[in-house]
Amino acid sequence: MNSYSFTDHDYDVVVIGAGGAGLRATLGMAEQGLKTACVTKLFPTRSHTVAAQGGIAASLGNMGPDRWHWHLYDTVKGSDWLGDVDAMEYLAREAPAAVYELEHYGVPFSRTEDGKVYQRPFGGHTTEFGEGPPVQRTCAAADRTGHAILHTLYGRSLREKAEFFIEYFALDLIMSADGICQGLLAWNLEDGSLHRFRAKMVVLATGGYGRAYFSATSAHACTGDGGGMIARAGLALQDMEFVQFHPTGVYGAGVLITEGARGEGGYLTNSEGERFMERYAPTYKDLASRDVVSRCMTIEIREGRGVGPNADHIHLHLNHLPPEILAERLPGISESARIFAGVDVTRAPIPVLPTVHYNMGGIPSNYWGEVLCPTADDPDRIQPGLMAIGEAGCASVHGANRLGSNSLTDLVVFGRAAAIRAGTVIDRNAALPELNPHAVDEAVSRFDQIRHASGSVPAAELRGLMQRNMQEYAAVFRSSESLSTGVEKMREAVMMQEDLCVTDRSLIWNSDLMETIELTNLLANAMATIVSADARKETRGAHAHEDYPDRDDDHWRVHSLAWVNGADVQMSYRPVHTETLTAAESGGVDTSLIQPKARVY
Ligand SMILES: Cc1cc2nc3c(=O)[nH]c(=O)nc-3n(C[C@H](O)[C@H](O)[C@H](O)COP(=O)(O)OP(=O)(O)OC[C@H]3O[C@@H](n4cnc5c(N)ncnc54)[C@H](O)[C@@H]3O)c2cc1C
Repeated sequence: MNSYSFTDHDYDVVVIGAGGAGLRATLGMAEQGLKTACVTKLFPTRSHTVAAQGGIAASLGNMGPDRWHWHLYDTVKGSDWLGDVDAMEYLAREAPAAVYELEHYGVPFSRTEDGKVYQRPFGGHTTEFGEGPPVQRTCAAADRTGHAILHTLYGRSLREKAEFFIEYFALDLIMSADGICQGLLAWNLEDGSLHRFRAKMVVLATGGYGRAYFSATSAHACTGDGGGMIARAGLALQDMEFVQFHPTGVYGAGVLITEGARGEGGYLTNSEGERFMERYAPTYKDLASRDVVSRCMTIEIREGRGVGPNADHIHLHLNHLPPEILAERLPGISESARIFAGVDVTRAPIPVLPTVHYNMGGIPSNYWGEVLCPTADDPDRIQPGLMAIGEAGCASVHGANRLGSNSLTDLVVFGRAAAIRAGTVIDRNAALPELNPHAVDEAVSRFDQIRHASGSVPAAELRGLMQRNMQEYAAVFRSSESLSTGVEKMREAVMMQEDLCVTDRSLIWNSDLMETIELTNLLANAMATIVSADARKETRGAHAHEDYPDRDDDHWRVHSLAWVNGADVQMSYRPVHTETLTAAESGGVDTSLIQPKARVY
């Protein structure tokens, strides 16, 4: 192994990731007076959060009656009863405060006539515990909400004197011999130097792993690096079988058309010009939740009612909406439709197809963001020194299916919660322990091995193979046959890692090396996904199993846990939290209202 020298850094907290979750946590940690660093492979405002269009859910009630209790109910039902109720209550209850906080930080929300924050309808968000009409709960800054939030949070973090390590790639966590997270090893992409960070708390806010699939709305940087680091640290990933397909990715390009388009009155049609969602979801129609709409679209296409020369996609109509509404509320997607589909939305429908969009699964945590390392005796055991938030985490508020606009809420609510918690659990005066030298050696030699990999398979080829396997075998609909074939194919793909080749051995701006490391992280996430999916013998939320078409609460209302070690995956399960935080007598939701029942929209 080449010898490497290191630059050392000491912090109370190191946050990995500068998306909405990472920035909200960084800002909060700095506000708590903790010495905080944020390490990010991208410039903060290039994180995928910048692409979030539709908005952020909170029961402000600006457009009509709303209560956090209804938001909780919708989230529980949206999750197909797999989310943890305590975390979901925390999300729904804290959302209004978190959104007003963003407003006060300076996020330029769209406004109503009387100056309040504008809110639009989104799929699965309703009133009266699912008995009333759809609610306008999603706060928006036109269709560029994530952009507005990210820029505001970055500015605020700088003002709080948080320190940023930009274009630093986190390679691995450093764990002590007795399993405590002590810090991390990072690679400065710009000058090639290696950096050891010691910290009392490491926060993983590394985003999703959409790029494990061939067609995804997420950015190319969404490679599940946090999940890869967790797997290598011997920790578990949770509920990885639940991958959200967004109903309206632009056909061919995969670029997202926000659900806000349907919120503003858009609707889907098949080759017969029929608004088919009326047949499947008589009450909420095109605003049923995403898993439901994606399945209905897939059924329409399978039954020969797709549009286009190959009858392989669906039309999304906005052309009946007034052009001034499109220009005011959906300017970004009007532009995307023009660039990526060649469509003028005021005149013609947009060709769309369900496209991979979000990972419900991730690193298990409680609602304070503390990572869990469950054992049979203690399913809620806390992993010292480690937190996980945002799309990388799994608190779990989205269960088997996330409601649109609940992710941005998740980022800021749990980013804030993690900072509040860190403020109480971190001893500011305690000394930092010495980093475990074996763990540092292991991380460095892994990096060095990949750098000098001299096999016969380029990263791009193996990445393509993985993406096609996942797209084909772990799709909107799955079956025992597709999943078991998929597991075999993915095992073979994972084994091919041994034969990777990296052609550029330099350390400075070596995108070949970086993408190869990202690929190894994607493979760990993909492997957990397909093995967890193969193991779950029921249909729930985004996991639609053709051989087990019903939800089976007696056996499967449990979180999946997957420990990934190369091609080997160990599975276990932990119970779902079914208790609310606030008792009904004290103003909370009566738990009889959120018991599992058939999920119809
Ligand atoms: C096109 C699109 C539109 C969406 N619209 C909405 C919406 O309207 N409403 C909603 O609620 N949700 C929406 N979502 C979902 C939501 O935007 C994402 O789930 C959310 O932004 C994820 O935020 P994050 O902070 O967890 O991660 P990201 O924003 O993805 O940020 C990840 C961060 O981690 C860093 N990172 C990753 N790996 C490493 C590493 N190895 N070393 C150092 N740094 C690393 C990156 O640099 C980056 O800063 C949308 C998603 C997409 C793809």
